[in-house]
Amino acid sequence: MKRVLANDGIDKIGKLLLEEAGFFVETTKAAEGQLAETINSGNFDVLLVRSATKVTSSVMDACPNLKLIGRAGVGLDNIDVKYADAKGIKVINTPAASSQSVAELVFAHLFSGVRFLQDANHAMRIQGETKFNELKKSYSSGIELQGKTLGIIGFGRIGQAVGKMAIGLGMNVVASDPYIKEATLLIHILPTQQDISVKISTIPLEEVLTQSDFITLHVPGKVNGKAVIGGRELDMMKPGAAIVNAARGGVIDEDALLHALDSKHIAFAGLDVFENEPTPAAALLHHAHISLSPHIGASTAEAQERIGREMAEGIISYFKN
Ligand code: NAD
Repeated sequence: MKRVLANDGIDKIGKLLLEEAGFFVETTKAAEGQLAETINSGNFDVLLVRSATKVTSSVMDACPNLKLIGRAGVGLDNIDVKYADAKGIKVINTPAASSQSVAELVFAHLFSGVRFLQDANHAMRIQGETKFNELKKSYSSGIELQGKTLGIIGFGRIGQAVGKMAIGLGMNVVASDPYIKEATLLIHILPTQQDISVKISTIPLEEVLTQSDFITLHVPGKVNGKAVIGGRELDMMKPGAAIVNAARGGVIDEDALLHALDSKHIAFAGLDVFENEPTPAAALLHHAHISLSPHIGASTAEAQERIGREMAEGIISYFKN
């Protein structure tokens, strides 16, 4: 019987599929520093992680029985994939399973920002009973998303899922991606069961920055160790525009963002990811014009179920072959 250590947990459907296929699944998390010892003492063939557990070259060296590492999610930054390849340890992930969840969180931040909800929620809790009319006045100058232009930087799986939702909301969509020239978005209309297809050609980053009312980032990470959006790029954005980062911490230069918000050049930001996770900069956390979430883009019931299912299918198929 093959043995799986799901060190950061696994959705119950994934566990069930694996058990039905004859795998043993352990979900008790190994204490930090005890990972290699736990894998060896439990004779595990498979290590499953989300983003919390780091799988380093020394863990791989110390675990000769390890055959497969599964990353339940998109990014592989917590796994030394090159080293795993060199050692013949297979690494799999679930790249498409969470795209819709991340896309919806982007709109949660956008809807929040245009109606000041990140601040109004806080103020209502403290002053809602005594200063209702004053608060009503403070938060009465919101705007709509419909009719505005959304700029998508990185037009892969999540970028395209965001594009579909934006079109559904009546937004104009522009996108930039150095590796994708054109994408056809298939928008499924549930009440009529019809598909509408919309072709979008990407344009240079500078044009996206200057044309958009809102920008959202869906790139893999920093480019050559540098933020994709720094002070220069923020300066190019329209005055009063807004920006969302649900990609990776550091894709936006956080100091430059704070400066752009404080100078009111940028109206608001939505951040799900931070340069210094799990201890984000206090200046970001306390800013009235930033809508915040603690890296929960993929954390919905539906995405976790899809991730668990895809991961189980990947593991089962690897050992079948
Ligand atoms: P993807 O690989 O499908 O798409 C990324 C796209 O970015 C690619 O098309 C690539 O060509 C493009 N790209 C690369 N460099 C670029 C640049 N400098 N400018 C513009 N485009 C560039 O990946 P995806 O599944 O859409 O994921 C996108 C990001 O979302 C990743 O960083 C991923 O880690 C992150 N993510 C975050 C969460 C979360 O919880 N917030 C969850 C899942 C994924």
